Amino acid sequence: MPFLPFLARVRASQRISPNFQRVTLSGLADMGPAGPIRDLRIKLIIPGPEPLTGFAGAADWFATWRGLDPRVRGDMRTYSIRARRGDEVDIDFALHAGANPGPASAWAESCQPGDTLWLIGPTAHDSTGAGIEFQPGHSERALLFGDETALPAIARILDEWPEGLAGHAFIEVPDAADAEAQARDIALPDRVELTWQVRDNAARGSLLTDALREAVTAGSADAAAGEAEKTTSAAKPAPAGKARDAAESDGGAALVWETPQFSSSGETLPPAGPALRDYYWIAGESGVVTGMRRYLVKECGIDRRQVSFMGYWRLGRAGS
Ligand SMILES: Cc1cc2nc3c(=O)[nH]c(=O)nc-3n(C[C@H](O)[C@H](O)[C@H](O)COP(=O)(O)OP(=O)(O)OC[C@H]3O[C@@H](n4cnc5c(N)ncnc54)[C@H](O)[C@@H]3O)c2cc1C
Repeated sequence: MPFLPFLARVRASQRISPNFQRVTLSGLADMGPAGPIRDLRIKLIIPGPEPLTGFAGAADWFATWRGLDPRVRGDMRTYSIRARRGDEVDIDFALHAGANPGPASAWAESCQPGDTLWLIGPTAHDSTGAGIEFQPGHSERALLFGDETALPAIARILDEWPEGLAGHAFIEVPDAADAEAQARDIALPDRVELTWQVRDNAARGSLLTDALREAVTAGSADAAAGEAEKTTSAAKPAPAGKARDAAESDGGAALVWETPQFSSSGETLPPAGPALRDYYWIAGESGVVTGMRRYLVKECGIDRRQVSFMGYWRLGRAGS
């Protein structure tokens, strides 16, 4: 079943920390999915000047929406579900109130209870897992790396953590107060660590990139120290050091999206093979994710089947 539009109503909107606005949307009793949410992506149609009508239940909603006058149809953006209770969901918007805040960030900051918008998501009966990328399979450990836009997805993944899986999540946020506020809502599962990285004046993505290098080096040392008989990656990590290419550009290409099931660059997808020890889930600004991908796949030789690399947004470019 394809995703469908649901008319959602703002029930509450709260600035939970300097850079996050939590918007609670209600009226979503018929929305799914039937199973775990994890990093499910949904779309929001950020309203333009006129309210949009007539989408409810329409499987051809996208063609209808695209056919509308661009000045009235609003803007579509992708978000994650931080929490779900009954017919409500919470969406945590990372605010970016610079010179060009973007329609979604601006809407989140100004929306009022009673305002409506369309949310495109799975139906209540959908158990296909469509739109969910966190799939560690039979890995022993999952390592997650994300910036503030990936924080809601990581937090939800932690809420629905697979039993028996070990893990470590690294989240880079702009401000220590963002980490403090968000940490209050996260209950860490057994055998999982969470490291907050406060960006302050550091280059965007540099802390995540350094953490990745250190994690790979440490994991490789663990393997050499006695776990080598198990199936591990063929990683030969470059020495840990300060990342120089954290926010490097990938030449203006579209958002990077390389997962074990899908390649946005058209790479040949590797065939299924034996279970691998570590699974990496990496999401955030596309140039940063591209640099991390280059390090893992090209420099360390990590098996592509072990990693989901997801550009959630791109510096200097509006989303969709
Ligand atoms: C699968 C998926 C899940 C996502 N989940 C979330 C989520 O739960 N919460 C969340 O906040 N975001 C999430 N995002 C990212 C979000 O879709 C983008 O940040 C989006 O571009 C914001 O739209 P906008 O209208 O505010 O800005 P846009 O109109 O898209 O962009 C305007 C300008 O702002 C810049 N910009 C966009 N986002 C940021 C940012 N975060 N910080 C600094 N500059 C920015 C752009 O580069 C551009 O120059 C997700 C993206 C994907 C693909």
